[in-house]
Amino acid sequence: MTAVNPHYLKLQGSYLFSTIAQKVSAYKTAHPDEEVISLGIGDVSQPLAPAVVEALQHACEEMGRAETFRGYGPEQGYAFLRQAIAQGDYISRGVSVSADEIFVSDGAKSDVANFQELFDQTICVALQDPVYPVYLDTNVMAGRTGAYHNGRYGGIVYLPCTEENHFVPQLPREHVDVIYLCSPNNPTGTALTKNDLQQWVDYAREHQSLILYDSAYEAYITQADIPHSIYEIPGARQVAVEFRSFSKTAGFTGTRCAYCVVPQEVSVTAPDGTSVALHQLWLRRQTTKFNGVPYIVQRGAEAVYSPQGRAQTQAIIRSYQQNARVISQALRRAGLEAYGAENAPYIWLKTPGGLDSWSFFDKLLTEARVVGTPGVGFGACGEGYFRLTAFNTPEKTKTAAARIAAMTF
Ligand code: PLP
Repeated sequence: MTAVNPHYLKLQGSYLFSTIAQKVSAYKTAHPDEEVISLGIGDVSQPLAPAVVEALQHACEEMGRAETFRGYGPEQGYAFLRQAIAQGDYISRGVSVSADEIFVSDGAKSDVANFQELFDQTICVALQDPVYPVYLDTNVMAGRTGAYHNGRYGGIVYLPCTEENHFVPQLPREHVDVIYLCSPNNPTGTALTKNDLQQWVDYAREHQSLILYDSAYEAYITQADIPHSIYEIPGARQVAVEFRSFSKTAGFTGTRCAYCVVPQEVSVTAPDGTSVALHQLWLRRQTTKFNGVPYIVQRGAEAVYSPQGRAQTQAIIRSYQQNARVISQALRRAGLEAYGAENAPYIWLKTPGGLDSWSFFDKLLTEARVVGTPGVGFGACGEGYFRLTAFNTPEKTKTAAARIAAMTF
């Protein structure tokens, strides 16, 4: 028999969403006439913007005509989209990123998952706890961790994000090589300010570390002192890679398009001590393992930057932002402590009376017929917290919020 990659066997079963589905299904079977509303979903509920659909349709027609048909495209993405991204997300905001530093992909999930393969097995990785699980699990698969014990993998530097530190990760005392930061954060809904991020950039420069910055929820930022890009921070171009996605910005969760920025200045060290440009490595990786995002999808993504596309996608984001406010107000009316919502489509609440995350899940399901996600599913520091999302429809969100507001804790 073929030997397995032993590191896969260290992975913890992903029971979180299947356990939730089982509990919800059992409840619905026992109460067939009750409407259960999910505020647990991480997927969008509103359709693509009309301008995007029109661009997709037009691109489909092009693919059906010999004169405009396209086969394999450039692995890094078509120039029209890379230029639209550079202009629309960076240059227009006064941030220096050029089109040739942008790599278009089929998802931020695959990008953040794949990026770690550019690094040596022995590097030290730091990540937030609670965390978007992909950062952690892909490093486990790659063999960069020890065994799992008491909610933690050996060899990982966990950066606790709790009420005590306002969910802002503190600089590690030790040296770390790669730091995953997610802002606005999934699951806590908290965003790092320019000052917070400057400290991380300074740390990375001092320690010659690399920051992998996931800003998949950048479009949800409302506060002026929250940076939309890590490249707004002086010095970041030398030490940071940024990941963005059209999933939650423009409803592309099923259409699939994202991108990452690898500035020309970022370098890593070769065994002989010389430096290697990270951009070149990622280009090599992508051209070897990836054949690009469909032309049709890239035309759809380009339309997000047209005046109509912008107006339409922003209206959708505003409605999710409104959902987030409705949920967080309801939680406060019910006497709960709620965080997030202001710059993110996530609301992170502290479970009352010392309830653990799963007990709170059961209480919310049975008393309000509302489903959310137990915080402990995102890491040991998520115990005692609970995540609600703003992605359901306004109507269902309002109904769910009213039910929660009427609960007693
Ligand atoms: N990064 C974070 C923090 C996310 O929460 C998600 C999706 O839930 C992703 C990345 C994945 O994005 P994509 O749909 O582009 O793969």
